[in-house]
Amino acid sequence: MNHPVNHSGNQPLEPTPQADRKSLAAGGPIVIAGGGQAGALMALYLARQGHRVRVLESRPDLRRVDIDAGKSINLALATRGIVPLKELGVYPSLEPILVPMAGRMVHEIDGDAGLQPYGLHPEDVIHAVSRSDLNAILLDAAEATGNVEVTFDVRCRQVDFDRKVLTVTDRNDETAVSVVPFGTLFGCDGSSSEVRNAMLAVNGGTSTEAELDHGYKELNIPPGPGGSFQIEPNALHIWPRGEFMLIALANPEGDFTVTLFMPNDDGPGATASFADLKTEADVEGFFKREFPDFVPLVPDLTSQFFANPTGRLSTIRNTGWSLGGDAVLLGDAAHAIVPFHGQGMNLAMESCRLLDRTIREYPDDLALAFRKFEADRKPDADAIADMALDNYVEMRAGVVDPDYLIKRELALELERRFPDKIAARYGMVMFSTRRYAEVKKRAERQQEIFAELIAGAPSLDQVDFDRAAELVRTLSPLPAPI
Ligand SMILES: Cc1cc2nc3c(=O)[nH]c(=O)nc-3n(C[C@H](O)[C@H](O)[C@H](O)COP(=O)(O)OP(=O)(O)OC[C@H]3O[C@@H](n4cnc5c(N)ncnc54)[C@H](O)[C@@H]3O)c2cc1C
Repeated sequence: MNHPVNHSGNQPLEPTPQADRKSLAAGGPIVIAGGGQAGALMALYLARQGHRVRVLESRPDLRRVDIDAGKSINLALATRGIVPLKELGVYPSLEPILVPMAGRMVHEIDGDAGLQPYGLHPEDVIHAVSRSDLNAILLDAAEATGNVEVTFDVRCRQVDFDRKVLTVTDRNDETAVSVVPFGTLFGCDGSSSEVRNAMLAVNGGTSTEAELDHGYKELNIPPGPGGSFQIEPNALHIWPRGEFMLIALANPEGDFTVTLFMPNDDGPGATASFADLKTEADVEGFFKREFPDFVPLVPDLTSQFFANPTGRLSTIRNTGWSLGGDAVLLGDAAHAIVPFHGQGMNLAMESCRLLDRTIREYPDDLALAFRKFEADRKPDADAIADMALDNYVEMRAGVVDPDYLIKRELALELERRFPDKIAARYGMVMFSTRRYAEVKKRAERQQEIFAELIAGAPSLDQVDFDRAAELVRTLSPLPAPI
């Protein structure tokens, strides 16, 4: 028999002894902690397999109550998120509320702005989507199966894996405690996951949080007259300023969600920090100096600045994503990354698709399915965590660096000439489902080739394309989609 291989250690993953095996169908109640993007999507996948699922969500029902999701109002949706939405038939309901973005609109300090397209093909676009609208569509679709029951305003507090019960409290009355039995528990409760904390205490797994010394603050560019867009809607706007940056993504209502990313404190190399911006005069002076073309777009800039919280950003890497066939982590609970590649949710949604597939591959051995899922997915989660950190430097500084710009031009030219052998890293991450770990490795190899070709050739017409063809021939085929 072929055993699935554990990619992290190259050890075969052994099937569970017969007496301990369980299936999802016969394993008792299926409970999902957390009804965000991962929880709602996984509920839909499981319901489609015919399972009955209970989702426990700590916030109120966002379809009925206007709530602040606590983090970015809109998100960039890309291929890895779109594939599962199409697979589940949800994408058509979402399409009307998507705002396509064909590239980065880079705003220089003198007010000049230019579009850097994301790829070579018209379909190389990402989409801005409202976090809460997407979540609402997923919850509606899950409930419409008739197999999913969502309970709002209940927070999972403790998990007793021996008795297989979750202790939950009512959001409006913390003294109202109840107990929810489960057969299989999906921990989709985000980056501060209670399920993860409970599980790591018993399965020997580890969790490492690396907090970035940069934070973020959200602002809003209101619509112009008659609900018009004040700046180009079909681009992701970046104001790159070396150590910090501002970005903006359009919403269908004509406004833009803006995020300022910058160091929390003055440190070595920091030219500005959140700690410097204490008074209205500080904020006004900073924005006028660094983002002069942005200031007129937001009349109440300083009041927004002080009304909105400053968020923190972390990468959380975990091992031990499951406990036998009783529990598994998914989404940010398993792998939380910084937002600079616009991939956290896309990664989470792709993980749901792959977990569903793995469960169907091993229907009678859930514990093996869960271990196989982690073995396959952990290297990919680690790779995109690294690439997301790299992309911060690219966005805040690279996009105006002449060396970066010529390499990018060369990458696109080689992709045009050798489409089977060369693909830009950004495109492989955003517009494909190739394994992140393979994308990272391939992109590193391609970078070596670009560096050799660019050395001594300061512009594209001086590149030796015969040598390029020789180097490209040494490459293996591009990684396959999963
Ligand atoms: C500033 C910022 C910008 C981002 N931009 C992008 C982007 O452009 N593209 C992208 O792909 N990703 C982006 N992300 C990442 C993305 O937000 C997350 O990766 C994604 O939301 C993960 O989904 P999730 O369902 O795993 O977690 P969450 O969305 O955090 O959902 C967890 C859910 O569980 C609930 N919950 C938490 N604790 C409990 C509990 N104890 N009991 C019950 N329920 C609980 C929460 O209320 C929530 O509904 C961004 C993140 C940030 C911070």
